[in-house]
Amino acid sequence: MPESPAVHHLFIAGRWVESVSGNTFESDNPADTRDVVGRFQAGTAADVAMAITAADTALPAWKATPAPKRGELLYRFGALMAEHKERLARAMTREMGKVLAEARGDVQEGIDIAFLMAGEGRRMFGDTVPSELPDKWAMSIRQPVGVAGIVTPWNFPIAIPCWKMMPALVTGNTVVFKPSSDAPHCATLLVELMDEAGFPPGVVNLVTGSGREVGDAIVESPDVRIISFTGSSATGRTIAERAGRRLKRLSLELGGKNAVVVLRDADLDLAVDGILWSAFGTTGQRCTACSRVIVDRHVVNDLVARLAQRTTALRLGSGLDESVDVGPLVNAAAADKVQRYVAIGRREGELVTGGERATGPGLEHGHFFAPTIFAGVRPMATIAQEEIFGPVLSVVPVDGYAEAMAAANGVRYGLSASVYTRDVNTAFRAMRDFETGIVYVNAGTTGAETHLPFGGWKDTGNGHREAGHVALDTFTEWKSIYVDFSGKLQRAQIDNQPS
Ligand code: NAD
Repeated sequence: MPESPAVHHLFIAGRWVESVSGNTFESDNPADTRDVVGRFQAGTAADVAMAITAADTALPAWKATPAPKRGELLYRFGALMAEHKERLARAMTREMGKVLAEARGDVQEGIDIAFLMAGEGRRMFGDTVPSELPDKWAMSIRQPVGVAGIVTPWNFPIAIPCWKMMPALVTGNTVVFKPSSDAPHCATLLVELMDEAGFPPGVVNLVTGSGREVGDAIVESPDVRIISFTGSSATGRTIAERAGRRLKRLSLELGGKNAVVVLRDADLDLAVDGILWSAFGTTGQRCTACSRVIVDRHVVNDLVARLAQRTTALRLGSGLDESVDVGPLVNAAAADKVQRYVAIGRREGELVTGGERATGPGLEHGHFFAPTIFAGVRPMATIAQEEIFGPVLSVVPVDGYAEAMAAANGVRYGLSASVYTRDVNTAFRAMRDFETGIVYVNAGTTGAETHLPFGGWKDTGNGHREAGHVALDTFTEWKSIYVDFSGKLQRAQIDNQPS
């Protein structure tokens, strides 16, 4: 008899509790679905209400805590993550499938943002500016928004919650965190470490459960003043509609359709390395994954041949095996979706390699899909326009820079883009011309660092950015303060004008 999986709880007001629903759901290992990672509480609107009350109750004391002291707790939490890095990474690979090296990178992103935001506790700059009137000071300060609803996907199950919760907490907000139901174990381990770090009860609350039940209750609550959401554009759109009706602050990080542009003068070996890593890392399930290679016709055949050769050599399997290059897709629905797009791709391009579910020893019980390349794809083809979120790469041939840029920008998304060229002028032109929030030169489309703004243009979001010091903008209200020490009434725009 296999051991029955551990049952995990919600974290509300500093206590681990069962859901009022009495129901649980399972999270399993996508590389071998017989391996059940654990059972998790199927939270309800009533659980969310309790979590929001706890966050609201904790808010006055937390926002009154000096920011450098809040920062010290973030620092302690970052140090705990570093201490438990390997355990977290292994749990991540087991639960959502990315290979161990990438899981370690995911945890490291969480550590990096914890330390970066811990430092913000001693910065959190506002402006001190001259007043237009004598004997008067003018300055602006940041203050917390209130209770923050944090709704996250499964593909960066440690990094993304940290990108959101670290700036939220250091600026004095309290948090209700709803993770994806494909990665509740990672979220639980993360919140256990936050508890150990010593965040006061109610400052961080965790409610697992479905988007429809738990996510909806968070979005609809008038007591949650800010929602930070990362996920698909479809979900983001419905959340935006509901949050908009309530005039609720909302930060959205959504889908992508990221391109690598390979120009005629590119170093093709370098480009192949970058494309493979960006397209098939995390099995193509990164918001910044490269799903289009836009390549000058002069070098397209050469590039496709090199890509095909390297792609067929990739090893598939459980990411816990360090010799594996590509892990499984996250669940059966993701594999079905990839299969549907591949069927469309067979009509829209020429299948170079892959195109089917991967089978063979060790793959029988997982959601494996062979890394797939289509050549000869037109820029407006469905597989070159829609986010597939799997290991499917479209090669789009073009003539020259202008056509390449038109194709790269001719999608509704605008997250990440990259150009391979040896010409410095062309590189600078591309940096200017890409309509994306992130640009790489002579590197793939992935690899963002935590101290720069992260986010996208167009349908990838709603103008907010995560990471970097700009992440504070999402979670703070500005307050402009005027101090008049003239001892008399001074009227701005009036008393200092010629009569
Ligand atoms: P998803 O939209 O299915 O789910 C994201 C989260 O929203 C989950 O926690 C889910 O339970 C919750 N949710 C679902 N319906 C909801 C509702 N009605 N109300 C409130 N919450 C609800 O996305 P996913 O499959 O978990 O993640 C993959 C997507 O995330 C891809 O589109 C990817 O591009 C995107 N993503 C974007 C970024 C970025 O920074 N731009 C980063 C990572 C992933």
